Amino acid sequence: MRGVVYLGESEVEVREFERPEPGPGQVVVEMRAAGLCGSDLHKYHSSREWARERKGMISGHEPAGIVAEAGKGVANVSEGDRVSVYHTVGCGHCAVCLSGTPVFCSDQGAFGRTRDGSHADYMVTDARYCMPLPDNVSFTVGTQLACTAGTAFSAVNKVSKRHGDPLVVFGLGPVGLTTLLMGEAMGYRTLGVDVSPFRTDLADRIGVGVVINADENDPVQAVRDLTGGRGAAGVVECSGSAIARTQAAAVAGLHGTVVYVGAGAPSLEIDFVDILRKELTLRGNSVYSMGAYFDAVAFIQTHRVPLDEIVTHRFRLEHAREAFAIFDRGETGKVVFDWEDEQGP
Ligand SMILES: [Zn+2]
Ligand SMILES: [Zn+2]
Repeated sequence: MRGVVYLGESEVEVREFERPEPGPGQVVVEMRAAGLCGSDLHKYHSSREWARERKGMISGHEPAGIVAEAGKGVANVSEGDRVSVYHTVGCGHCAVCLSGTPVFCSDQGAFGRTRDGSHADYMVTDARYCMPLPDNVSFTVGTQLACTAGTAFSAVNKVSKRHGDPLVVFGLGPVGLTTLLMGEAMGYRTLGVDVSPFRTDLADRIGVGVVINADENDPVQAVRDLTGGRGAAGVVECSGSAIARTQAAAVAGLHGTVVYVGAGAPSLEIDFVDILRKELTLRGNSVYSMGAYFDAVAFIQTHRVPLDEIVTHRFRLEHAREAFAIFDRGETGKVVFDWEDEQGP
């Protein structure tokens, strides 16, 4: 089978591997769609030395596919099942793992970071990370649910729900766009902010609320104008930029909630008056829980959330170099590898 390996300094290579075998409690998933994520770009930009130390580990953490083989003792899935695979892993036994948040486990790892990932024809995983993907949800949406869509859903849910109220999203990459779609579907009046004309145009094309280009208009003033001076009930900051973090608190209205999702800048600077005089609630959001996956699936099945529309580029795995290079330029929505209509690798 084929798998993608980081070479360091913005290079990847497609290599041949043995198809993995499932151990006890494990399954092998035949990939049908596997997204590229912003966090993959950090690894893509790493040094040659870092890449060498990975010893040929396969990239990718957004797996969606079909269970090809189940090892001994697997009860939750069977061969032929459609699954999305939760992207982080933990010890499986501690309190945070048992509450469905292995991302907080002291023994935390992830596909494509600490073990072979999803940019491959097949991937082995502990069966407990396999999340059922209903027949009427595409693998393209399944790969988003493995990471970005679940994160966006979880972030919007941290805003106290006041439908019809304004929700501002900073950073309109795949997570931000998904947050806008989720917010719209939840009944918020959404406003998206980015500095990239490509991204604001894409958000405009998808038709999610009002889009503000922060290079052309001060987003704080724009949100004030668009909300009759009230500010936003909820703000989700997905860009990770220092300025956007400050502006996120500035655009929030009285008793608003600001949810910080984007990594990036190491510190957070907020005008304290924003917090005190508006009694803001600040929340962090690091991915989402395995339980929230089921809520997200139920939500997209009962609401209009056109997640397929934010996918702008699809590649075959053998074009991994091109896929990473285009995604790295920042002028894309979601980028996915897909195997659909392929008669087996
Ligand atoms: Zn991801
Ligand atoms: Zn654990």
